[in-house]
Amino acid sequence: MARMSAPQLSGDNAAPADSRAVRFVVLMTVLFLAFLWSFVAYWAVSSRQETIDNAEQVLRRMDYAVEEQTRRLFKLVEVFLGVAEQWIVDNPQADPRRDPRFLHLIETFRERTGNAIEIQLAAEDGTLFPLGPPTPPLVRELRDKDYFRAAISGDERHFHIGIPEPTGPNGVWQIPVAHRLKQRTGDGAALLAAIRLPALLSLYEEVRLRPNGAIVLLRRDGTLLARAPHDERLIGKSVAGGQLYREFLPRAERGFGRLDRTATDGMDKFVGYSVLGDLPLVMVVSAAVDDVMEPWRRQMLIIALLAFGVSCASLLAALRLARVLGELSVRNAELQHLATTDLMTGVPNRHHFLSLLYHEFARGRRYKVPLSLMILDLDFFKQINDGYGHAAGDEALRAFAAATTGCLREMDAVGRLGGEEFGVLLPNTPVEQAEAVAERIRVAVARIAIETELGTVRFTTSIGVTQTGVDDESVDAVLARADAALYNAKASGRNRVIVRLAGEIHSRF
Ligand code: GH3
Ligand code: MG
Ligand code: MG
Repeated sequence: MARMSAPQLSGDNAAPADSRAVRFVVLMTVLFLAFLWSFVAYWAVSSRQETIDNAEQVLRRMDYAVEEQTRRLFKLVEVFLGVAEQWIVDNPQADPRRDPRFLHLIETFRERTGNAIEIQLAAEDGTLFPLGPPTPPLVRELRDKDYFRAAISGDERHFHIGIPEPTGPNGVWQIPVAHRLKQRTGDGAALLAAIRLPALLSLYEEVRLRPNGAIVLLRRDGTLLARAPHDERLIGKSVAGGQLYREFLPRAERGFGRLDRTATDGMDKFVGYSVLGDLPLVMVVSAAVDDVMEPWRRQMLIIALLAFGVSCASLLAALRLARVLGELSVRNAELQHLATTDLMTGVPNRHHFLSLLYHEFARGRRYKVPLSLMILDLDFFKQINDGYGHAAGDEALRAFAAATTGCLREMDAVGRLGGEEFGVLLPNTPVEQAEAVAERIRVAVARIAIETELGTVRFTTSIGVTQTGVDDESVDAVLARADAALYNAKASGRNRVIVRLAGEIHSRF
């Protein structure tokens, strides 16, 4: 069968349109997925940053509040020590160890702070003098304490804060603060204040972030003074080698940052920190990174699962759509085939053949190229039907179409015009060549032999041939001329080729 038959033509037009649709579906799906996952990624990054920013705000505010409370407590110590020293200066003759007025003053301090701060007097060698009621010694070996030595040998304007230790019969932890007197009083060379650690820790415990947040008070040199939650093994430990002292504090005296595996509890922490200005102390408020990020991680997991679900669903939908489009493409091709093909012989039907003829006629006129047309009609076909049966007639028609197609080039086309009448279209072909082709067809048809129960069926064909002429206004004129040629062939005895031309024909090129 010639290549210009229906399935090829439908394949040329319908399939690209359908594969374009499939490509469009694939492109849209890819774009959608790219958009979806870009959004998820953007959301993940921005909401993570937002979570960290929120933690920063909370920790900075908390650090500020805790720092204020701590500063107030130490200021109170400063004030008490100042007042006590002033009393000693104002009463140079009095012995503060026994003078009821001084003892009353000290007692008042203690009561005012709910026993959180206690004040005592120390000799230069570290001997402690009990003041008032029998109070437990603040510390045991005062003589060797670095803060006491620093106070005795240093400037009387400054405080010297020591490392807390458990004292007294109950082993209560206290932060010692030593201050050298400007003016000695008897053996008394320094005042010593002790801040009860539980009082400080209860302040911190009230505000610290649970479960893993901590509040830590450090000396400027990195020594840990107090920590909520309390862990006595950490008291006095130095964190001077840690990230906070090496990286953060040299950059800014107040700030926020992330510490990897802190020295105190080994966790990754977000911290708000500040240096207490005029006091040699550093305040650190922390929250565990895991605790802070947990809600974000949970949300992230849900969003990622949702996006994954949507991705799967859209992929499935796209696959299904592509499959439907593929099926549609096959159906389209089938429909196209049905609409343009003569089902019995497999060659183009009349409608399709004529449309090919119109197309080639217009092309031939435009480019002034010759176009040849033949009309073929089986001879005495009625006799085949009558003599061998209708089925044998059908078989003859199929054999005829196949034989004719076998004589044509790829660019030629054969079509069934109706009944046992066929047309052959030969583009770019002058009539001499067409006549030769027609003769080949005539001979090929004459050789067809169809075996039936009633014997061998043989038949011939008559062929009218023409070529487009310069004066041909329409296809109808060409068709009429080919018809007339066929009529001549029939009239002059059948099984022959007759050529009929218009006045002037298109030259070859
Ligand atoms: P002529 O040589 O003058 O063409 O004689 P003819 O018998 O071929 O011409 P006629 O027009 O008298 O008969 C054509 C016959 O073709 C009549 C019709 O039954 C038969 N025919 C038309 N279509 C088909 C078909 O699809 N199958 C079969 N088996 N026969 C068909
Ligand atoms: Mg006939
Ligand atoms: Mg006929």
